[in-house]
Amino acid sequence: MNQPKILLLGPPGAGKGTQSKKLADHFDVDHVTTGDALRANKDMETEHGTPREYMDAGELVPDPVVNEIVEAALTEADGFVLDGYPRNLSQAEYLDGITDLDAVITLEVSRGELVERLTGRRVCEECGANFHVEFDQPETPGVCDECGGALIQRDDDNEETVRERLRVFDENTQPVIDFYDEQGELVRVDGERTPDEVFEALQAAIEP
Ligand code: AMP
Repeated sequence: MNQPKILLLGPPGAGKGTQSKKLADHFDVDHVTTGDALRANKDMETEHGTPREYMDAGELVPDPVVNEIVEAALTEADGFVLDGYPRNLSQAEYLDGITDLDAVITLEVSRGELVERLTGRRVCEECGANFHVEFDQPETPGVCDECGGALIQRDDDNEETVRERLRVFDENTQPVIDFYDEQGELVRVDGERTPDEVFEALQAAIEP
């Protein structure tokens, strides 16, 4: 399969960002992530307000804003790994109207582990690399191993917002996963293993 079109689903903290980047490198396709696109435009004025108003509360940014980002990115891409979208059924319908997917995979991680991963996560403000205060410490505290940038906590990785993001996932995004499952398209991958093991399982799911 050349230039595959891959959809990676799963709750916040499941490892979608890390794995999507690796998959995009491996298959030489675009990494399309609504979370990163919105973070880069947090204070952009839209007719629905700024993305920040929703993101800092752990809520979903309104569909028209997100759909536009995704359509523009997918139109330019031959193959892609889509990460963080669709997050509700209406986005899933929109996606269905603009592209066909080759693989739909969900990463499964237990709830307690998600909360621990998210609240302890630190990200590089320069290159976006992820670390963890306990499980994946950088060589020098506060400094990115990859590029030397400063490590920060995302505004929405505090415990209160994390709980709300997980509630929003259960209410809005779990039905998207069930929808692909009912279509018989969904592959489930255990995301509670080492990043390399998860990556191997993802590769196997895409290139059977
Ligand atoms: P993420 O980096 O994927 O965890 O996304 C961070 C935040 O960006 C989410 O909590 C939402 O506020 C917003 N966001 C990202 N993707 C979407 C989407 N597909 N639909 C609506 N909001 C989104």
